[in-house]
Amino acid sequence: MTTKGAEPIRTCLGCRRRRPKGAMLRLVRGADGRVSFDGTAPGRGAYVCRDPECQERALKPARLAHAFRGPSEAKTELIETVVSGR
Ligand SMILES: [Zn+2]
Repeated sequence: MTTKGAEPIRTCLGCRRRRPKGAMLRLVRGADGRVSFDGTAPGRGAYVCRDPECQERALKPARLAHAFRGPSEAKTELIETVVSGR
């Protein structure tokens, strides 16, 4: 368990830096293997900085497959969101 009041630390999938969970976006893999940003969905999650460069790197299929331990692919909308957000 974490210390009371302390924010959990998560590792960014893109740059491997460790940051407070609140400063990051959560990625969740659906039953179909498609990955989307979702802060509340159940299941295995991965975290990435709010930095477009990190997100681009983190959304590579190989990176996602490693994080989720299985074939994973970012949803097309997700990639478009990241690219258009630069
Ligand atoms: Zn990062």
